[in-house]
Amino acid sequence: MKVLVINCGSSSLKYQLIDAESEQALAVGLCERIGIDGRLNHTPAGGTKVVLEDPLPNHEVAIKGVLAALTDPSYGVISSLSEIGAVGHRVVHGGEKFASSVLITPEVIAAIEECSELAPLHNPANLIGIHACLSIMPGVPEVAVFDTAFHQTMPKEAYLYGLPYEYYEKYKVRRYGFHGTSHSYVSKHAMQLGGLDPENSKIVVCHLGNGASVSAVKNGKSVDTSMGLTPLEGLIMGTRSGDIDPAIMEFVAEKENLSLADVMNVLNKKSGVYGMSGVSSDFRDLDAAAEAGNPRAKDAVATFCYRVAKYVGAYAAAMNGIDAIAFTAGLGENDKKVRKLICEHFGYLGVELDEEKNAVRGREIIISTPESRVKVMVIPTNEELAIARETVALTKA
Ligand code: ADP
Repeated sequence: MKVLVINCGSSSLKYQLIDAESEQALAVGLCERIGIDGRLNHTPAGGTKVVLEDPLPNHEVAIKGVLAALTDPSYGVISSLSEIGAVGHRVVHGGEKFASSVLITPEVIAAIEECSELAPLHNPANLIGIHACLSIMPGVPEVAVFDTAFHQTMPKEAYLYGLPYEYYEKYKVRRYGFHGTSHSYVSKHAMQLGGLDPENSKIVVCHLGNGASVSAVKNGKSVDTSMGLTPLEGLIMGTRSGDIDPAIMEFVAEKENLSLADVMNVLNKKSGVYGMSGVSSDFRDLDAAAEAGNPRAKDAVATFCYRVAKYVGAYAAAMNGIDAIAFTAGLGENDKKVRKLICEHFGYLGVELDEEKNAVRGREIIISTPESRVKVMVIPTNEELAIARETVALTKA
């Protein structure tokens, strides 16, 4: 079976067509500037990227463009749409309603709509993608895979805020966590790579990309994670502040004459290592600037690493120990310097990094020495494959 995996944003749409048997991506692509002008980038496996500049006024047209690209005689990868057996959609927020992936039904769509209040930028875009596929490919089963679902196993003490309880009761204000598909995929692979017992294992996953989060996975279940009601909580990220004293919001709003919406924009888009350094949100630029002697870039990287190390320490306490630490996502998979800086904080855990192995890229590998008391690993994440696996599991049943 071939599975079309869709990750729909407000003006973009990422897709992969995955062969469920070989688990290989047959084609990957991205529709950009939907509703503005439109550009479709399509790359068949082993082939060269094709850029199509046809207008993409809405998501339905974008999905039609994707299906046309997939079946194109020269750069397509299937001869007919009937080869697509199912569609898997990434959905950002499942609230407390979804603790696992589900087959999409009218009831599920209504429930995702209800969760939109918690993710007003993301869920409506995800729903547009779902509706577009339903109308273009009626009869093809569709599955929703939620970013929040994996973390629904968190105990109350990990998900409650120190706020009036009525906000939780009335509005479901609590910690949810995100990147769940990645934390689930990486923790499972870490268990296999480390030869750990699924029923008796304590893993910390550090998903370090432009958005970044850490999770504590005990016996295969998420017991805590650093993002909260929204992805703004937790680590310092590319442009997000992560944890701050909430009183800063009022202080800065008064000093800079900003509205609450302006402050939120600063915290989401102008903060993080970008705001700290004034250089970039990309660690490649930060590393280069730090090496060239830029003190703010150096401080931004060190502060980022320190925050990650503090969360790992907190999760060692939450789980009463750690068997493995797994690094993943753009930065976690590629930046050996950042991994080293983070691991330098873990002497008390008995972590010993193997510098040579830490320099290897692009595959699952244990980067700690055999003597290290905690296994440190790099596990490339693959959220699309995880979504395809969930989709197959639900549509085969
Ligand atoms: P997201 O999916 O959250 O947008 P990614 O997981 O793609 O983010 O990670 C993007 C980030 O990964 C970049 O901003 C950059 O900081 C980092 N990154 C990617 N490649 C490298 C590299 N070779 N060296 C250092 N950092 C890298």
